[in-house]
Amino acid sequence: MSLNVETYTVEFSTSQREEVKNLTKSVEEKVDGSYIEDGMCLVFAPHATGILILNEDEEGIKKDYLKGLHETVPKNNDWKHDRIDNNAHSHIKSAFVGSNTIIPVTDGRLDLGTWQDIFFIETDGPRGNRRLILKLIGEC
Ligand code: ZN
Repeated sequence: MSLNVETYTVEFSTSQREEVKNLTKSVEEKVDGSYIEDGMCLVFAPHATGILILNEDEEGIKKDYLKGLHETVPKNNDWKHDRIDNNAHSHIKSAFVGSNTIIPVTDGRLDLGTWQDIFFIETDGPRGNRRLILKLIGEC
């Protein structure tokens, strides 16, 4: 058995201040094009105001993700960081939920659940230079 590592980048932009963006197909393309057959795919967003989740792609629930984040972390709350660049709520949302996930790779494919897609949640957009770093680790 030998372990292999492949690295990929997915570049994308966001067009709104807050946005729920489905990146499943972009990640799947990289996994399908890789040699890894059995292992895992680390999906990492190198951003302090971005969130990564696995969940359902349905119009209502996508609005609910944003509403839930707003209600958990209100924008105006005398946050100390707002004195610097007025986006403390964006940082806190990212810190609370996280900006990475690991997905099993089985028979060379992402082993996602039926109702699971990969979403980047923008909390401080629009941004033209967002990206994901993928590390595929496993057997070929
Ligand atoms: Zn900031």
